Amino acid sequence: MRADNRENQDLRGIVLTTNYTENPDGSVLIEMGRTKVICTAMIEDKVPLWLRNKGQGWLTAEYAMLPGSTNTRKQRDSTRPKADGRSIEIQRLIGRSLRTCIDLELIGERTIWIDVDVIQADGGTRCAAINGAFVALYLAMKKLYEQGLIEKFPIKNFLGAVSVGKVHGDILLDLNYQEDSQAQVDMNVVMNDQGKYCEVQSSGENGTFDKDEFKAMLDLATEGINDIFVDQKLALENYLEDYGNEKNPTSN
Ligand code: UDP
Repeated sequence: MRADNRENQDLRGIVLTTNYTENPDGSVLIEMGRTKVICTAMIEDKVPLWLRNKGQGWLTAEYAMLPGSTNTRKQRDSTRPKADGRSIEIQRLIGRSLRTCIDLELIGERTIWIDVDVIQADGGTRCAAINGAFVALYLAMKKLYEQGLIEKFPIKNFLGAVSVGKVHGDILLDLNYQEDSQAQVDMNVVMNDQGKYCEVQSSGENGTFDKDEFKAMLDLATEGINDIFVDQKLALENYLEDYGNEKNPTSN
């Protein structure tokens, strides 16, 4: 049993609050245990210069941790002399991952901005961000579709992410900060609901891993993400019903 009373294969409790704030096209508060992240999706009617007149849109992401999200105050990115490499690494992961689940040709020459702000960090913020941002993206696309601004619903599949790790020799799902800080191996997995992986990042932070351990971690992450899809689909339940199979391949 883990310090927070979970078995090794348990996720932390997930709460998805849709339409958390009013201004964005899509907005979600995701809680995974004590980790809390606000995810928004906003649509801009233009694309970056290098994509102009190519007949497709773009999706990009920004990630930040608020000063009060960590035990000791986290300096705001805007007041740092240099960009925080960790934030850049994480926001590129979020953008890359979300681009795998949307047909960018169907949204025309528009940019979808995904903004992710961690309000409380307790490990797994990048994975929580992807899980919440997917739901925010879905809501934004629903709005665009309902306004008649796009002909087909562009989301191709659901997308989820979770961390796994080797901690004191045990393979654990969905590490909190205490576990993450003691991990020999830390792995972040992003997968869609067709069972295809979008990204697998496995790092020997303080040790190494063999093929069997890699497989055990990947299997555990796969199970965990399949459970996350259930929560995402529940959060979007009414919306999924709205669309029907033809327009929305994710409703099966
Ligand atoms: N963390 C922190 N301050 C930082 C970076 C990370 O307190 O500047 C904590 C936070 O709880 C975070 C955890 O360390 O969730 C693990 O960070 P990591 O870089 O592995 O990313 P994450 O697991 O959040 O995706």
